[in-house]
Amino acid sequence: MTLPYAEPLTRVELGPRVIPEPPRVGEPGGDPCGLCKWFADFDESEHTPLWSNDEWVLCRATEVTIPGVVWLASRGHHDSFADLPDKLAASYGPVVARIERAILSVGDIARVHVYRWGDGSSHFHIWFFPRPLGMLEARREMLPLWADLLPEAPKAEVAEAEEKIAAAMAAGD
Ligand SMILES: [Zn+2]
Repeated sequence: MTLPYAEPLTRVELGPRVIPEPPRVGEPGGDPCGLCKWFADFDESEHTPLWSNDEWVLCRATEVTIPGVVWLASRGHHDSFADLPDKLAASYGPVVARIERAILSVGDIARVHVYRWGDGSSHFHIWFFPRPLGMLEARREMLPLWADLLPEAPKAEVAEAEEKIAAAMAAGD
């Protein structure tokens, strides 16, 4: 692993804790949940998700630096794994496995990272980051750092990766 910064980095002091924390998107007092609004007015011709079913929506990312980055959201508003209804939780594993296989079908990918942070929006969503084959600097937690700093990938490459993922997901329906 390699930090995407030159040495020497200097460590900053941790600030005081902020309690209570500011509300996240979709929480009382926070901005309204954009995903709930989007999924309520769902128009596939306009928004073209990569794949969806009654429970899940696989979405395109914006300003993609590593082609194949996608995210999955539950259709309903749930916060984290602890809040998922049992039926939804039971379908999570199989759908993540399908998405991982679909992303690997893009080719030249060493591994697919799966991230659930939940610090921005309170609507359940998961990020999938493919680590390009041979990009050893971006192993483990370095991948999102590199993804944040690399230049935006050519839109044609991003679209090609997304169409492969969409086709692989459709083939599994
Ligand atoms: Zn929501």
